[in-house]
Amino acid sequence: MTTYVCPVCDFAYDESVGAPREGFPAGTPWADIPETWCCPDCGVREKPDFEEAK
Ligand SMILES: [Zn+2]
Repeated sequence: MTTYVCPVCDFAYDESVGAPREGFPAGTPWADIPETWCCPDCGVREKPDFEEAK
């Protein structure tokens, strides 16, 4: 499982946790998140802007 982080606000999407309030249950792979999905915290950055956490 991988975590992806918003470069603006540091919101983290962890595949093992998902984003239930966004409609993505735990275990949803990053690949299944729509390209048009934007960061739920800042609303500025979209999925392609997220960076894989080291
Ligand atoms: Zn953000």
